[in-house]
Amino acid sequence: TDEPLYCIGCGARLQSTDPKAAGFLPASSLDKARAGEEVYCQRCFRLRHYNEVAPVSLTDDDFLRLLNALGESDALIVNVVDIFDFNGSVIPGLHRFVGDNPVILVGNKADVLPKSINPRKVTNWLTQAAHAQGLRPVATVLTSAKKGHNLDALLDLIEQYREHRDVYVVGVTNTGKSTLINRIIKDENGMADLITTSRFPGTTLDRIQIPLDDGHFLIDTPGIIHRRQMAHFLNPKDLKLVSPSKPIRPTVYQLNPGQTVFFAGLARFDYLRGPKAGFTIYADNQLLLHRTKLENADDFYEKHRGGLLAPPRAEDLAAFPKLVRFEFTPKEASDLVIAGLGWVVVPAGVTVAGWAPDGVDVLLRKALI
Ligand code: GDP
Repeated sequence: TDEPLYCIGCGARLQSTDPKAAGFLPASSLDKARAGEEVYCQRCFRLRHYNEVAPVSLTDDDFLRLLNALGESDALIVNVVDIFDFNGSVIPGLHRFVGDNPVILVGNKADVLPKSINPRKVTNWLTQAAHAQGLRPVATVLTSAKKGHNLDALLDLIEQYREHRDVYVVGVTNTGKSTLINRIIKDENGMADLITTSRFPGTTLDRIQIPLDDGHFLIDTPGIIHRRQMAHFLNPKDLKLVSPSKPIRPTVYQLNPGQTVFFAGLARFDYLRGPKAGFTIYADNQLLLHRTKLENADDFYEKHRGGLLAPPRAEDLAAFPKLVRFEFTPKEASDLVIAGLGWVVVPAGVTVAGWAPDGVDVLLRKALI
């Protein structure tokens, strides 16, 4: 029976249940609004007082409206993806929505790449992965929003391709889009005071506009939640395992066929057929890897998940999806990628299987290293 209340900054309907959705503010502030006080939602509050953009997510319908708005405008699109979870961070059908507008692809979180990796290879792989989705970026750049790496290169590319147009920054949640925007705001001295919010046509969602020097804007758009992300299956306390803060370090296992390596209780790698061989595993340094016999692996998982094999934590087991198996026999040295978690370098010609929670992709790509 509550009267709907609205943020006086962006106009989003105020709510205190979902911190990641539009119009959120803590219950105590919502009470003030009910008492007749004019209030900003938390997102507008942070923007006004700290010049900081907070992540916000959209429903599918609103996101479609946003994408349609992109297609109808003459603009440069900057699509931010997470290089550790390309499949969990693509926007399905983006290429159909952008029309003739150019797209710059930003592979974020490059600071987590192992030191031994050649960034050019990652850039090429990312571009190819985009092509496979039908997206043809005019440029691909690797950044670290967290460390501020390569932002100059990104800003130069934006200047090069925008040709006096607006710039829309799009991405699914968890790719680091907000962190990136905040970096850009803070690095560009003096412009922070001028940030404004305005409504996307037909949605309850605000966009954040950062003025550029020629009367155009860099526009931060809300992200959509991509359900095929490992992050959604984890307890918030374990999120650091899928969002490492240090370069990931390889672990090498000499495996005979018939051996299994568990990635805690989150995923599993089976060596099925081939000679004894070295397998290099790239995952967060704190993620537990546990080797066991393939023939006992199912029982072992049943018995130890939530215990020895954690995460998932015991209290989260009920909501954790069952692991689904994908088998591969790569023709050339390849990475078996468990989306969002890491990868295993697999030699040519052997047969292996990767297991991940139902909904999370397991795929093969040409070895990056
Ligand atoms: P958004 O939902 O796309 O706006 O993403 P956020 O900016 O909220 O970032 C999601 C998570 O990724 C947070 O835990 C960030 O700290 C982390 N993150 C963002 N950018 C980077 C980066 O460049 N490197 C690393 N390692 N983590 C990042």
